[in-house]
Amino acid sequence: MKINEIFKSIQGETSYAGLPCIFVRITGCNLRCSYCDTTYAYEDGTEITIQSILECITGLKSKIVCVTGGEPLSNKDTPVLIKELLKKNYVVLVETNGSYDIRTVPKKAIKIMDIKCPDSSMSHSMHWQNINYLTKLDEVKFVLNSRRDYDWTKEVIHEYHLSRVTNVLIGTVFSSISPKLVVQWILEDNLDVRFQLQLHKYIWVPETRGV
Ligand code: SF4
Repeated sequence: MKINEIFKSIQGETSYAGLPCIFVRITGCNLRCSYCDTTYAYEDGTEITIQSILECITGLKSKIVCVTGGEPLSNKDTPVLIKELLKKNYVVLVETNGSYDIRTVPKKAIKIMDIKCPDSSMSHSMHWQNINYLTKLDEVKFVLNSRRDYDWTKEVIHEYHLSRVTNVLIGTVFSSISPKLVVQWILEDNLDVRFQLQLHKYIWVPETRGV
């Protein structure tokens, strides 16, 4: 598999935020979000066997592994890697951009699925049927850049009864819309969601890689 980087850090997002976690960043992405902060993962990477990836992960000593990208489901071997990790009893988080059918993800893995808002310029790429395949263990993530994104998010949450289906996360594009403002809107509208900040961008310089 072509791998961009493997490293240990703390999980900066999701309901696992703050926990030690090993990240496996798979090279390649089919989307081009306006605010993408991992453009370096579009092409760069090294071909590594699944066995070598597993050995590297074992050496890093953590119970949680986040399979991310790029877009992990753009690689046909990702489900095999996830299966092997589950066999070794890791808690496996799979971060996906929502454009691929998530039924390829082995059931015991936890899916963290983006729902791309209008300002990302990638809303049209969503595979909306995926919402039917989410469980209460999974999480969907909206990254907001404007009031327009917020209003759109609210409509999607209501239309698909998302808070009943799964865990809903709302965050902001770093250094764009004020988190305080978004929290205020969430409270005014009584949305049943979890607001999140990208912890790692506050701990380290936002551009830092491998953290
Ligand atoms: S899906 Fe993720 S990796 Fe791909 S362009 Fe969007 S933000 Fe970047």
